[in-house]
Amino acid sequence: MDIRTQVLTIAKRIYSNRLVIASLGNVSCRDASGTIAITPSGIDYEELSIQDIVTVDLQGTPMHQGCTPSSETPMHTLIYRKRPDISGIVHTHSLSASAFSVVNQEIPVEMVEVAAHVGGSIPVAPYRPPGTKELGEAALDVLKDRRACLLQNHGVLAVGTTLEKAYKAAAITEIAARIHILASVLGTPGELPEHEVKKVRDLYFTL
Ligand SMILES: [Zn+2]
Repeated sequence: MDIRTQVLTIAKRIYSNRLVIASLGNVSCRDASGTIAITPSGIDYEELSIQDIVTVDLQGTPMHQGCTPSSETPMHTLIYRKRPDISGIVHTHSLSASAFSVVNQEIPVEMVEVAAHVGGSIPVAPYRPPGTKELGEAALDVLKDRRACLLQNHGVLAVGTTLEKAYKAAAITEIAARIHILASVLGTPGELPEHEVKKVRDLYFTL
């Protein structure tokens, strides 16, 4: 599947799974030549079609005439420039995970899928203004070997060696946050012990 089709497919999926509303959040994918396909600025996911998906180079310069690329293009391109291993990025403002970002609290590993698909607890990158490459730098500083992090007072950033993996990490980040909040109503949520996290990670996790 070409990268514009991949971006459109995942953009529609994060919309139908309620990880985003309106035109908030963004999705991108890089191919082997270094070309990046990214969602456009200001078009609601509901309305999105293939001709709206923009291609840019590694500096964020559009490669054809058409829509304006996402306002978060500097964050995406910074990550692709610094991390040649990453080929897909999903950024959402999903509700439960964003609540963690607002209280500046990492999401602990309480469910095995967090260890399997994110690689461990989900850290928070310190606040940087939206639309800047500094936002990408702050995220990379905390991401290290994880597939997702929170952006303080902002939302979720997920990455992967494929866009599908980035999508899965973004979705599981929201599920983990929601389960923690629900479990806190019922009692005291229990974290998985470190050695069990490592076992799951060793068995299932790949970036
Ligand atoms: Zn955002």
